[in-house]
Amino acid sequence: MVKFQYHPQKCYLPHDPSENRPTKCLKCLDLCPHSLLMFKPTKEKSGDGAPIRYEIYLTFKAYANKYCPQCLKCAENCPNQAIKISI
Ligand code: SF4
Ligand code: SF4
Repeated sequence: MVKFQYHPQKCYLPHDPSENRPTKCLKCLDLCPHSLLMFKPTKEKSGDGAPIRYEIYLTFKAYANKYCPQCLKCAENCPNQAIKISI
């Protein structure tokens, strides 16, 4: 079973209103060979209801357990050491 630990305080992903998505990084998403990582807005909202920032999450547990080979590409290439993968 894959254990995904994520530290949102290390991975700060502000909202980019012009693109309607996070402003930066997403290296972990780009590098995951099975597209198991995704981003979602946090519950914090600005005055106009737009997200303030996002966080990364691992997709459905059963799917991740089946397809994540624990290659560690996400964790090892995160510039902020915000992800830890273990079994
Ligand atoms: S690579 Fe690290 S800093 Fe970049 S989005 Fe993923 S968790 Fe955040
Ligand atoms: S360990 Fe590899 S396969 Fe698993 S979520 Fe990270 S990048 Fe994707």
